[in-house]
Amino acid sequence: MSEPHELTAAQAVEAIAAGSLSAAELFDAYHARAAADRAAGEGGLNCFTWVAGEAPSRAGMRVGESRRPESFRKPDAFAGTALHGVPLAVKDLFCTEGAPSQSGSRILAGYQPPYTATVVARLRRAGTPLLAKTNQDEFAMGSSTENSAFGPTLNPWDRERVPGGSSGGSAAAVAAGLAPWALGTDTGGSIRQPAALCGIVGLKPTYGAVSRYGMIAFASSLDQAGPLTRDVTDAALLLGHMVGRDPCDATSLGFPHEILAPSAERLDGLRLGVPEELSGEGIEAGVLDAFAAALAGAEALGARIEPVRLPHAAHALSAYYVIAPAEASSNLARFDGVRYGLRAADAEELIDMYTRTRHDGFGAEVKRRIMLGTYVLSSGYYDAYYGRAQRVRTKIAEDFRAAFAHVDLLVTPTAPSVAFRLGEKTADPLSMYLNDFCTVPMSLAGIPAISIPCGLSEGLPVGLQLAGPAFSENRILDAAYALEQSLGFDGAHARV
Ligand code: GLN
Repeated sequence: MSEPHELTAAQAVEAIAAGSLSAAELFDAYHARAAADRAAGEGGLNCFTWVAGEAPSRAGMRVGESRRPESFRKPDAFAGTALHGVPLAVKDLFCTEGAPSQSGSRILAGYQPPYTATVVARLRRAGTPLLAKTNQDEFAMGSSTENSAFGPTLNPWDRERVPGGSSGGSAAAVAAGLAPWALGTDTGGSIRQPAALCGIVGLKPTYGAVSRYGMIAFASSLDQAGPLTRDVTDAALLLGHMVGRDPCDATSLGFPHEILAPSAERLDGLRLGVPEELSGEGIEAGVLDAFAAALAGAEALGARIEPVRLPHAAHALSAYYVIAPAEASSNLARFDGVRYGLRAADAEELIDMYTRTRHDGFGAEVKRRIMLGTYVLSSGYYDAYYGRAQRVRTKIAEDFRAAFAHVDLLVTPTAPSVAFRLGEKTADPLSMYLNDFCTVPMSLAGIPAISIPCGLSEGLPVGLQLAGPAFSENRILDAAYALEQSLGFDGAHARV
């Protein structure tokens, strides 16, 4: 039999159910791999901020939070549950009781929340014990995981390159075989883009399909949790246990139907729209070649490829980088040294304590976004910036509605380039923001989108994005599955 970590999560579920593998054996195998990465320090990929069993650091904790760490249930206790104890890695920003939840920030160093995010709690009930918390850009702001207070994560395909971001720790861990599957969050591309750069599958669900309760907020009208997995089947399996209305999140909705295991072999009759605005200018030649080859593959499976227009897509990045910082500046006001995490020592009075805590606790990108956000919301500029960005957002949603009157799904490259070198874009925030060019429009419209690996360019993975109308996850997963089977991408090269 293959090593436990060579199985996909769905195969592991089956093996445990059939009795050929025990949940404890699987957990131990992954735990040893994850702990080794953590112990390797700079010699490892730096995928994790915490691995199960580690004593959480108590730095920055407040009186009243000093509860006993939750005893992580033995994996064998999950026998008979749907997911049978296949462990899960979870992005740092999900609140997990008894484990540090720091959103990649110094300001939350050592913070242990008193409760667990709904989606993590749901998955645990379905049978996924918590394996580890994963590294990310601070407060999910970034595209390379270089904005983490815990140092960058490296791309397992090439350690001199970034894994993408902000869910880079989750993506690299799954690609490297250090976790069977992982949770990420996507505000403007943070699941899809790291999935593309690491050669795995990442799905951002319809806005509202998954509860945001217990996710440390970045931009609440955009944030969604979703799966990062080795293949499309695993993504469907994990998503199926995440969706649903949660009374703790007023923006969550009941999913109108069951998430099904994808099974399509052909794409006969499926109309795939290629938006001109997102599949040409600004995208690397090697990425466009792999994209064109994947489109030819889709045609061979029976799909009809049609050009479509998204006339306002060119303005999506500008609108996003007004709306997301505006919401962030409001969400991050709560980190003031009073209630959570870090508090600056020897402050002279209250305002001084707030100022010093925020000065010491936030990194440069977070400060940049808070300043941008407060500026665009200020009374003299609100209409000119925030109000206008909201109008652009509406136009973009209308563009998608118009496109979906003619085609079933849209298809684009996920990211404009393959994984770039560490440090290559850190000095130029605008070039970093361009990573989100193809993913941000779907986020603004609240529609679901998946990234699947579709080939290599310069020996590095290229991602293909499929997007559809709200709640079309089953159709997206089916099309992605059929393409995945015919493309035959081999991600095993990245395993450590
Ligand atoms: N890269 C984008 C940003 O920095 C998206 C991040 C995300 O989706 N969380 O805002």
